[in-house]
Amino acid sequence: MKTTRRGLFAGAALGALAARNLPAQDMLKGKKKAIPLELKDFQPKSMLHVPETRVPRSRYPVIDIHTHLTFAANSKEGVSLGEEVKFLDEPAPLLKVMDAKNLRTLVNLTGNVGAGLRESVRKLDKAHPGRFLTFTEPWWERANRPDYPKFQADELARAHNDGARGLKVLKTLGLYLREKITSGPLVKIDDKRFDPMWEQCAALKMPVCIHVSDPEAFFLPTDRFNERFEELNAHSDWSFHGRDFPSNQALLEARNRMIARHPKTQFITLHVGNDAENLAYVGECMDRYPNMHVELGARIGELGRQPRTAKKFFDKYQDRILFGTDAVPHGDDTPQQVYGELLYEIYYRFLETEDEYFDYAPAAIPPQGRWRIYGVGLSDQVLRKVYNANAARLLGMKI
Ligand SMILES: [Zn+2]
Repeated sequence: MKTTRRGLFAGAALGALAARNLPAQDMLKGKKKAIPLELKDFQPKSMLHVPETRVPRSRYPVIDIHTHLTFAANSKEGVSLGEEVKFLDEPAPLLKVMDAKNLRTLVNLTGNVGAGLRESVRKLDKAHPGRFLTFTEPWWERANRPDYPKFQADELARAHNDGARGLKVLKTLGLYLREKITSGPLVKIDDKRFDPMWEQCAALKMPVCIHVSDPEAFFLPTDRFNERFEELNAHSDWSFHGRDFPSNQALLEARNRMIARHPKTQFITLHVGNDAENLAYVGECMDRYPNMHVELGARIGELGRQPRTAKKFFDKYQDRILFGTDAVPHGDDTPQQVYGELLYEIYYRFLETEDEYFDYAPAAIPPQGRWRIYGVGLSDQVLRKVYNANAARLLGMKI
């Protein structure tokens, strides 16, 4: 039997009445008023009796290609400024979780540039060989200088020498970086000034982890029809509706033109190519661009609500999907990304089991939309590739 949405909420009201010992037929006769309930207070417990599998350790060692262990210390209007980094935690507590959860390596994407990058490499990569890798980022604040294209390419070679293993590009490109850095028109993702940077990544065998655009719902009005209403209502600065922002589709197409122009550069498009809601489109892009890969960070909520489509996607693109979480130590503001044992257990359960209807984040209310997810139960072969082999190949690592 199919239950309608209206039916579900009526059911919740009936449940609440029953809890207060009021006979349900009274409500049906209209004798008692329905209880008012604010959305934020609605935390239904599932009554399904289905298997619950705990997966304390991953079946194969994991490389998490998408974490943030450091961040640029300063930024303005979404553009990082200066070389300084702040560390979000010490290596010891990070390693404790890694050892417990079978995490071989964490890739710290936001290693910034110059002195901050060197500090991150020294404190993480060099102090704990094989356990941490650090990526560098573009010098956005210099992007309007006439010598920028060459400067940026040369700077990548210096960063590579300093130990950077790849390049991370935040959604700064496309959504924040402007012609006068923090003001003026937005700089396009396929702007030619970055061509030497992308080519240098290919020459140095540094993969590019790139975040372009955001969930489709972030480009729509924050209203009662928006499936991520609560999330956007709590973080109004995450909405790209209105103002001078391009559409989601325009951003993804600019990214595609850029990927097509640099076929030797390996692009890891984060958050399932930033369109986990539309796996058919992501697949089309991957068919077109053999140098395009995807990563899972903060999108098991999307994949897990379409488990049959997602499973086919995993099977078809098994050589180009990388494990990642977008984990942030102490990132309590975003429960779907808070670094810790619970987070990894949810990812492992999603990938390894066929459990049904469970939370995609360690939080009382699903933080990225009010639904629950289903495991995809990947085969051993696909799991091994997703957990480590695909990342190891791109990073030039041995497992
Ligand atoms: Zn991230």
